[in-house]
Amino acid sequence: MKIAFFDTKSYDQEVFEPKLKAAKIRAKFYDTRLDEDCVVLAKGCDAICVFVNDVVDKVVIDQLAEYGVKIIALRCAGFNNVDYKYAAEKGITVVRVPAYSPYAVAEHAMALLLTSTRKIHKSYIRTRDFNFSLQGLTGFDLYGKTVGVIGTGKIGRVFIDICKGFGMKVIAYDKFPADIPDVEYKALDDVYREADILSFHCPLTDDTLHMFNVGTLGKIKPGAVIINTSRGALIDAEALLEGIKTKKIGAACLDVYEEESGYFYEDLSGSIIDDDTLSRLISMPNVIVTSHQAFLTKEALENIATTTIDNVKKIDAGEECPNIVS
Ligand code: NAD
Repeated sequence: MKIAFFDTKSYDQEVFEPKLKAAKIRAKFYDTRLDEDCVVLAKGCDAICVFVNDVVDKVVIDQLAEYGVKIIALRCAGFNNVDYKYAAEKGITVVRVPAYSPYAVAEHAMALLLTSTRKIHKSYIRTRDFNFSLQGLTGFDLYGKTVGVIGTGKIGRVFIDICKGFGMKVIAYDKFPADIPDVEYKALDDVYREADILSFHCPLTDDTLHMFNVGTLGKIKPGAVIINTSRGALIDAEALLEGIKTKKIGAACLDVYEEESGYFYEDLSGSIIDDDTLSRLISMPNVIVTSHQAFLTKEALENIATTTIDNVKKIDAGEECPNIVS
């Protein structure tokens, strides 16, 4: 068994290498993202391992099939970047890591929210410069506020528990509502209307693409805080910027961005950013952007590596695998 890993960083390699060695699996680690130009790197491999911004479309899948690749192993939960139906037609199995640490992502969502509401990002910079002024740092209590959670799966539920710990009222929208104590499900528009804070935790699908759009701006509470730790394209970034500029949105906490591919995970500190919307958002005092890092905890990385290798071994051995994307 030989696997080509795409879009890898040193922290991926460090956690995967000992586990691969123990499983007697050979691996090639590439820092380049997978697309039609570099799919050739998968030649001679039985499987590939990809991440959130690798492009696994029909063109890439055709090439993978030609090279005899049998498994596409996503080392993440979301699979919107893989044409898994086409892969199945080509006899390639797609597997993912549906859960590695919902706590990592939910805790990051709360970290962003607290940073934003208490302006920690501003005070950190001030005190490092011995500026101890509190001018402009007034925040607001989370206690008693209404949080609207959109998508109440694994991560959404952990986030709900955290919010309850803060004494917040939780309302929710999910296409498939569950029975969660002290959570009232509502129509999406009602969640938009009533929530002081909106946090997105549903997957990116045809249904959810731009579920927050320019029309949403007329529905949300003035000053609402928007958190997105799910997938960037749930939110129309232009509409978000419009909401910030018109002060309809109180603050935005973004771990993901619609067009993040090509920017996120890279050090571009010496480059000119040609995405005007991203640049403008980042320049706003009430927007916090992290670079799709919500998953990045030691526990999550360990679980991702263990499950990914287990997925590949099971498929290779023809055993049943619960993590096939179908
Ligand atoms: P999950 O499958 O456990 O939960 C998703 C929830 O969304 C489910 O309850 C489902 O019913 C609901 N849903 C599906 N379609 C919907 C729709 N059209 N409208 C509203 N709700 C809908 O997934 P999870 O583990 O909680 O992860 C949620 C998302 O978080 C993933 O899809 C992934 O994109 C994202 N994620 C981001 C990071 C990160 O580092 N930022 C890490 C892991 C996952």
